[in-house]
Amino acid sequence: MKGPLETELLINNKLVPASDEGTFDLFSPHTGELVAKGIYSANIAEASLQDVEAAVAAAEAAFPSWSALSPAERGRPLKKMAELVLAEKDELAQLDALAMGRPVSTFFDSFYAATHFNYFSEAAYPQGHTSLNTPGFLNMSLRQPFGVVAIIIPWNAPLVFFSKKVAPAVAAGNCVVLKSSEKAPLTSWKVSQWIEKCGFPPGVINVLSGHGHISGQALASHMKVRALSFTGSTRTGRAIQIASANSNLKKVVFELGGKGPALIFDDADVEQAARETENSIMWNSGQTCMANSRIYVQDGIKDKFTALFTKLARSRKLGDPTDPATNHGPQADKVQHENVTKYISLGKAEAGATIDTSLDADDVAGSETSLLVHPVIFTSVPESSRIAKEEIFGPVVVINSFATEEEAIQKANDSEFGLYAALYTRDLERAMRVGKKLESGMVGVNCTGPTGAWDLPFGGWKGSGTGRESLLESMDHYLEVKSLYVRVGGIGG
Ligand code: NAD
Repeated sequence: MKGPLETELLINNKLVPASDEGTFDLFSPHTGELVAKGIYSANIAEASLQDVEAAVAAAEAAFPSWSALSPAERGRPLKKMAELVLAEKDELAQLDALAMGRPVSTFFDSFYAATHFNYFSEAAYPQGHTSLNTPGFLNMSLRQPFGVVAIIIPWNAPLVFFSKKVAPAVAAGNCVVLKSSEKAPLTSWKVSQWIEKCGFPPGVINVLSGHGHISGQALASHMKVRALSFTGSTRTGRAIQIASANSNLKKVVFELGGKGPALIFDDADVEQAARETENSIMWNSGQTCMANSRIYVQDGIKDKFTALFTKLARSRKLGDPTDPATNHGPQADKVQHENVTKYISLGKAEAGATIDTSLDADDVAGSETSLLVHPVIFTSVPESSRIAKEEIFGPVVVINSFATEEEAIQKANDSEFGLYAALYTRDLERAMRVGKKLESGMVGVNCTGPTGAWDLPFGGWKGSGTGRESLLESMDHYLEVKSLYVRVGGIGG
């Protein structure tokens, strides 16, 4: 991909610059160069408050006719979008690699997105129920779209979040305003260019780029937005909840941060556990919500496990995310890089033994400019330390030990997060017993994040969120429920 990129906002099926021609810079985290150069000034369109108003107004105007269509009619453009995201998967992979350093070798997002667009193109037949349990009445409940739904997504897998939220929301009859992340706006911008071509009427899907404190906050506070689906940090989730409470109490759906524990019992397949837990925390350079960033290994196998894990971490191919041989790219941007390196320094200062898997910097092409962070393993860390408690969102893992099942459960649950927990054991009775006690929205038995299932609820307990998304669950978030009491008179059945 060569030459300057020009990004715009999609409002009412028109690609437009920000109303005040505001833009912001996007730098490649690998080369340090400016990624996008727009025609209006230099870079990515920064949606203004006026743009938020225009996008919400467009969605509101589109809602009556869009929601009146049959599910099959609403499904047609979704089906077309599924075809396009697959056909253009290489370019989409390049755009995320450029924007936030995601290695193209790890780009599964088009397949994921196509599955969601395809599924909701056919499966959106919301139904209420009927009741004859009130004498003299034939009662029923209706499930109806909200109207304008806002969607705010993070940067670590933008197309995944775009599709898993937009597809069920519009299939249910809502019209949406999506705000992409300032760290990775390019795939959303690319998809926005296909909305009209797919056949979505003007205003049904509006796509804004910009920062949280302008357009994100404006959507969260907007009186015409009736529901908001958000994936991102727990900190931002709190801000959105407050904005919702202070405006119109819009329904909020949250998929938030994590500090996932993995428990490795001494009867586990240690090689498998090391391979999968290493992949979980190091995949996407540690920038995954459901990564197992805390690993607890039973005393007798800790040394063996740690040696296997370290060997795998050392064999990661760091470097240029656009090179198909790379499986470990840079951190997404300078802020992210500073945050992760700050935690590493903190860990070195406060933690116990440290194994640093740093390679020789000269081995990594581009390492002079790249925001690469080598995998770092901390062992025997105090449970109260910040690196054991807080989400780092980088290739940094804590490997601690436990003696008994009770101790393992206590350590795993001693967290304000509860997104994904994993356990490895050959004893299935123990697996069920421990699985039941883990305070987590998802539990992997002899598997770990990102392993999941299309048809099971994805989401977290405690500070990790309030929503449950999946092919079967997601549409519920975008439907209001109404009870209709219909007096029909008469007696008897
Ligand atoms: P973030 O919270 O910083 O930003 C997410 C989005 O919120 C961005 O689009 C941002 O512009 C916007 N935003 C920021 N402040 C806002 C505000 N005040 N009002 C409205 N919008 C605002 O998160 P991030 O750094 O983009 O993503 C990383 C975080 O996301 C991690 O905590 C990770 O665990 C979490 N995450 C969770 C899941 C999940 O499914 N549970 C998936 C991926 C990432």
